[in-house]
Amino acid sequence: MKNNIFDLTLEKLEEVLVSNGFKKFNATQVFEGIYKRKVDNFDDINNISKNLKSFLNENYEIKYLSVLECLKSKDTNKYLLETNESSIECVLMKQYYGNSLCISTQVGCNMGCAFCESGKLKCVKNLTPGEIVLQVLTIEKYGNIRIDNVVIMGIGEPFDNYDNLIDALNILVCPKGIDLGSRKITVSTCGIIPKIHAFADLHIQVNLAISLHAPTDKIRNKLMPISKVYNMNDLMKAVDYYISKTNRRVTMEYIMLDGINDSEECAQLLSKLLKGKLVYVNLIPYNSTSSSEFKRASKNKIEKFYDILKKNGINVVTRKEMGKDIKGACGQLKASYDNKQ
Ligand code: SAH
Repeated sequence: MKNNIFDLTLEKLEEVLVSNGFKKFNATQVFEGIYKRKVDNFDDINNISKNLKSFLNENYEIKYLSVLECLKSKDTNKYLLETNESSIECVLMKQYYGNSLCISTQVGCNMGCAFCESGKLKCVKNLTPGEIVLQVLTIEKYGNIRIDNVVIMGIGEPFDNYDNLIDALNILVCPKGIDLGSRKITVSTCGIIPKIHAFADLHIQVNLAISLHAPTDKIRNKLMPISKVYNMNDLMKAVDYYISKTNRRVTMEYIMLDGINDSEECAQLLSKLLKGKLVYVNLIPYNSTSSSEFKRASKNKIEKFYDILKKNGINVVTRKEMGKDIKGACGQLKASYDNKQ
């Protein structure tokens, strides 16, 4: 089987080409061909030699993902895309500031968060860098649009597929290729501490979001198994380290679950936990899933919670809901598609 050309960062393509007798700058020509001019065929890159074309044709392929299903609502489209072995989900949100695409990094997820549908998907597979990047390229081509922002909040735990994630980020931001601004990308993690440190040390200007969802270990332990591996105190230290290294504001995601983490006391504890940190809290109305024992917090509770954080000087926004009517929550579309098969 031929290799996926989209799996290679510019540096890796340079290595491959140089070690096969070609020039380093040829990699830039190939990148510009596949990412800027979006050729479907190596033969259409007209500034490279015949020799290089045949080398590429023999060893690599340019193959976009196919769209298996597309669910549309007013401002949100949800796609099921097909890779060689499985299907992956991504969600396009048309925001006032541009097109935002939520992409996946794994098929299934090992993290097992109690409220999340993705953890229930069997068959965990790491997506390759190319499969991560191709979600953006495929949706751009399919919809004839430009993706302005990428949020890595789809299926999977990005830091559980760290090396492929970093290669994919490098390809997305590469000026010779897709050239998406690093500040336009956000990676969301459930809190794998060693990888938060590694990410901080990368000096890449990509935004970080933490799925916090609770103000204490006691509550977090009930929701997220990862919390038993990495406790709150260490997680906050990792966040401090990230901020000290990058000076970038971190998003704290907090799903509001009825009777679990939505009390006034929780709001006070959360304020205390985050006081003085360069963070903002994103309050997320819970999307209830088929199998879930959880219910979304009432509007009134969410407003109260918000007010308490505000009063305590914590930056907070309530996430705008999109795609609720089209199985917009993490893993829902793939789960319903797989059930039908
Ligand atoms: N594994 C990563 C990224 C994928 S989940 C992480 O944990 O951050 C992306 C976000 O969606 C997380 O904050 C997750 O907790 C949240 N999420 C999962 N299921 C949800 C649901 N049913 N309703 C609302 N948010 C959900």
